[in-house]
Amino acid sequence: MHYAATLEFARAQDAADPLRAYRDRFLFPSLGTPELVYFTGHSLGLQPRTVKAAVELELDEWAKYGVEGHFHSTNPWYSYHELLTPAMAGIVGAKESEVVCMNSLTTNIHLLFVSFYRPTKTRYKIISEAKMFPSDRYLLETQAKFHGFEPEDAIVEVAPRDGETLVREADILEAIEANADELALVFFGGVNFFTGQLFNMPRLTAAAHAVGAVAGFDLAHAAGNVLLSLHEWDVDFAAWCSYKYLNSSPGNVGGIFVHERHGRSFDLPRFGGWWGHDKKTRFQMKHGFQPMEGAEGWQLSNVPVLGMAAMKASLAIFAEAGMPALRAKSERLTGYLEYTIDEIAGAFPDARISVITPRDACDRGCQISMDVAGRERKLFDDLVAAGVIVDFREPCVIRMAPVPLYNSFEDVFTFGRVLRELLAAGRAQ
Ligand SMILES: *Cc1c(COP(=O)(O)O)cnc(C)c1O
Repeated sequence: MHYAATLEFARAQDAADPLRAYRDRFLFPSLGTPELVYFTGHSLGLQPRTVKAAVELELDEWAKYGVEGHFHSTNPWYSYHELLTPAMAGIVGAKESEVVCMNSLTTNIHLLFVSFYRPTKTRYKIISEAKMFPSDRYLLETQAKFHGFEPEDAIVEVAPRDGETLVREADILEAIEANADELALVFFGGVNFFTGQLFNMPRLTAAAHAVGAVAGFDLAHAAGNVLLSLHEWDVDFAAWCSYKYLNSSPGNVGGIFVHERHGRSFDLPRFGGWWGHDKKTRFQMKHGFQPMEGAEGWQLSNVPVLGMAAMKASLAIFAEAGMPALRAKSERLTGYLEYTIDEIAGAFPDARISVITPRDACDRGCQISMDVAGRERKLFDDLVAAGVIVDFREPCVIRMAPVPLYNSFEDVFTFGRVLRELLAAGRAQ
């Protein structure tokens, strides 16, 4: 695609954008700066305007009905989670029976490991990417120890080659081959939180299955960002949070996927609670846990309705806009950000800024990670002070996500203008 670093170009792109009206459905924080560019949807998505009324409705229903709201409110709380399933299944490319919203992300992965990380003395290894999100790394370490293995032995990390920043797919496939007989699980982030690298989930799943291992993914940075077809890809299990690209409110409930193949495996080890128990006999409170069919059989507790009300409002926007349209805009918008950074990097070679995210749209979502070697935190602090809200990760990476639902080409242009001004001011000193 052809891009130009002018305000006219950016505005023309926005005028032609079929999704442009969605921006007004979100509340942009006012952080005391005259203009604001919000590029941190990868950490916390913005609040949809519809969220407040959705939460207030449930507060009113609670006041009006008390416990009777479980069955008699507008959206009965007893089955409230079911209202989220169709939109969530659409976002991750799953059948409705394969998805449920519950708990939070790290909790959910641990629960899924109960069923899907079943190491034996000889087959116990987990292959993952190096530089996983810290919570996932702690999770893997403690799971390995819980089963009596040494993390250093049980966890095989595939790292970028020396002097490179991205993990090569060939190296992952080779690690799977090399550990074929000892491999229990391939567990990757769908999109790496640090570099923005999107892994080829169907290929990794097929490679895992070919050696008799299970394939699972943490989709925190993939859900609502890239196109997913978890069912078709034959992924065994996955989990994600809803407060990043899915805009559901800070720390809100996550989602899980369990492939249909496992949905009736009632003898899979799992931890039980009343909400995962067969709905028909849930209230008989007898001995003998009988899981529900599908992903719902992994639930433990009754659901937090206020959080889910916010999530329901947010997911409705995704159902309306549709992931294919969002992804189409996302590729162009992120391409524009990449172009903008490249241009500036060329104009200011001594600033030593560079894009570390994959160059091919097929290998990334909307996030661009920019290495600012030599400038460390200062450039980040200056960007934020100028109203460009981005994120900094040690040692020297700024992560930005132009989100197709609410970011614009003009946002990208403004970012570029501010970055140029900061670098020019630095050079003048
Ligand atoms: C954001 C994120 C988490 C956060 O986990 P919580 O349990 O929701 O706090 C975990 N893993 C990855 C990869 C993430 O990006």
